[in-house]
Amino acid sequence: MKILTADYILVCDEDFSIIKDGAICFDEKIIEIGKEDEVIKNNPYAVVKHLSKNSVIMPGLINTHVHLEFSTNKTDLIYGDFTKWLESVIKNRDILKNKCNEYFYETAIEQMLQSGVTAFGAISSFGGDLEACVDSPQKVIYFNEILGSNPDVKNDIIKDFNNRIEKSIQFSSDLFTPAISVHSAYSTHPEIAKYAIDMSKKNQMLMSTHFMESMAEREWLDSGKGDFYALLKNFNPNPKPMYSAMEYLEMFEEVKTLFVHGVLATKKELEMIGQIGTLAHCFVSNRILNNPLLDLNLVKSKNVIYSIGTDGLSSNNSLNIWDELRAGLFAHFEKDVISLAKDLIIAVTRNGAISLGMKNNLCLKKNQSADIVTVLLPDEVSDKEQLALELILHTKKIKSGYINGERYI
Ligand SMILES: [Zn+2]
Repeated sequence: MKILTADYILVCDEDFSIIKDGAICFDEKIIEIGKEDEVIKNNPYAVVKHLSKNSVIMPGLINTHVHLEFSTNKTDLIYGDFTKWLESVIKNRDILKNKCNEYFYETAIEQMLQSGVTAFGAISSFGGDLEACVDSPQKVIYFNEILGSNPDVKNDIIKDFNNRIEKSIQFSSDLFTPAISVHSAYSTHPEIAKYAIDMSKKNQMLMSTHFMESMAEREWLDSGKGDFYALLKNFNPNPKPMYSAMEYLEMFEEVKTLFVHGVLATKKELEMIGQIGTLAHCFVSNRILNNPLLDLNLVKSKNVIYSIGTDGLSSNNSLNIWDELRAGLFAHFEKDVISLAKDLIIAVTRNGAISLGMKNNLCLKKNQSADIVTVLLPDEVSDKEQLALELILHTKKIKSGYINGERYI
């Protein structure tokens, strides 16, 4: 049983409570949190560690959307246009994936760990990242992805998917949770998507899917025209959209689904997303592929819970979650910066836990998992209202981190 004390504790509850001169007592779960003197008095047998001045204790951070299998990419892919980028991914996919060995997986995971990511949602297209995800100290929601627009090869696609699902299920544990991802409406035939959705329902596995990431996707689903027509013609002489956007969303109605991007979702579609599940927001990826900025005011008005994803290094230059938070802070001019900073901290903690179905990681309170990180600010914060903003501005690495009460940094 340990106690950590710090100048501030960010509880990351609904009210964004901050405890000044706080302490947290924990083993694998949180035993007590409150004012320093009281927590120490109530837990006389705990080992007490007083963190340095200007330290902050907060929940472990959660990256809800990352593709580790593309971790070797630096400059191989085409940015600035979603369709061209997608073409370049298809062209380079095998080279990138074959280059991605243990070293790249470990480096990617280490970068997340150092930045305080104690849980992440990994989209796995081929299963190459399975071992690295199982061996990582973090909590991993492992989304086995399925895609394919040609129903003639449906059986082969499903066979490969089933193999990957079965393999991942063998490693199920407190830290590793197999889940399912249907790639997108433009890449996955309804019969294939339906198979995966039924499996998700039957096994109560969390679901994820990319949705309305680009104007090309919007145009394609709405009219069967635009940049995707030429791209998809490479795979099918007479391509047609397989769904309307609404038809696609309706398929997910009965499974808890983490939708990814949604930057071009309509008000009605966002409303539906809010009813079915949550949304992952990937600022940097959206920016470098020239996709629009998500309208956070609209997202809020439709009661959509949003979390933060770095996406993979196929559309980002960093898996450091603080880099991602800074990008979001600097991008969303439509929001007041003080309240945006608080919203972003909630998005990367509480909302991440809700999105990944981690009900024991909602905030720092009694009986929740002791997934805790500590951060050292460069100087005293003049007003605690500014704490979230200062954290995002100044943090590059955490000072220490605990997962289920075990120290990993
Ligand atoms: Zn993605």
